[in-house]
Amino acid sequence: MKVYEGVAVMTYRELYDMGKKALHSAGVAEAELDARLLLEYVCGTNRNDLLVHGDRTVAPDRQEVYKALIGKREKRIPLQYLTGVQNFMGLDFSVDSRVLIPRQDTEVLVEEVLRNLHDGMHVLDMCTGSGCILISLLHYSNHCDGLGVDISQDALEVAGRNGAKLLPKESDESAEEGFGRIRFLQSDLFQAVEGKFDVIVSNPPYIDSAAMESLMPEVGEYEPRLALDGGSDGLYYYRRMTEECRDYLFGGGMLFFEIGQEQGEAVSSLMKQAGFLDIQVVKDYAGLDRVVYGTIGFGTPENGKSEGM
Ligand code: GLN
Repeated sequence: MKVYEGVAVMTYRELYDMGKKALHSAGVAEAELDARLLLEYVCGTNRNDLLVHGDRTVAPDRQEVYKALIGKREKRIPLQYLTGVQNFMGLDFSVDSRVLIPRQDTEVLVEEVLRNLHDGMHVLDMCTGSGCILISLLHYSNHCDGLGVDISQDALEVAGRNGAKLLPKESDESAEEGFGRIRFLQSDLFQAVEGKFDVIVSNPPYIDSAAMESLMPEVGEYEPRLALDGGSDGLYYYRRMTEECRDYLFGGGMLFFEIGQEQGEAVSSLMKQAGFLDIQVVKDYAGLDRVVYGTIGFGTPENGKSEGM
């Protein structure tokens, strides 16, 4: 380490090594990666700089900012709340402690919906959080419109900002009619929702009470409890939504859920009881059950009659 006029000047690599050691001692799972990503965030650099320019000195004010962020990460504040961004489906979503950080597993849900989404469909995303599911669906489809619902007004502010940042401003005819491509609504599940949809998608809170007690600190201490806690057996929201959503789906409409790895059977049977057909369970990249979806019939499941033959 060089010293100029009593001030220690650290190189890029020295700072990185310091950050890495500190995060490692604090029990951060990916200490090396996080130390590097924070340094790149602070210095506006990329991954090559460590290899190519590791001996360059870092301006004292940048050093201070980096050390402060490492201090926060040592307290297990999630990396994404420090950098304010998480990539999901190739899009950079703004995140802060008001919303769940988008997970890679959830991309499996989005891809499954995209396979079934056709031009002009109406999509409802229940428990939208950062808006990552709905915004990705609208980004990668044509002329669909979407409603994102959350009980948290705080979350909806983040979702609204993401929608404005990531979706094209449309001056098409539907926007002129006053029906924008994306809308957000504060509602306790379907309470304030009106209209019908072709697709309802949700990644609801699904962690059961016992597991809530043993979450890693990043999740348990910093992510919103409201976005995680699925009640005593983790199935509270699936139970309510499979029942309540039928009034909001067109005949032939589809319901897609992200689920916890142990919930495939339970959620499938809830959907079956509620009258859904062709129920499928889809695995994530780790080979674990991650998505359940099904189609509602054209009849009225309540009285067992169906239209047509
Ligand atoms: N829909 C958001 C996501 O998948 C938030 C989900 C939640 O808050 N449970 O990241």
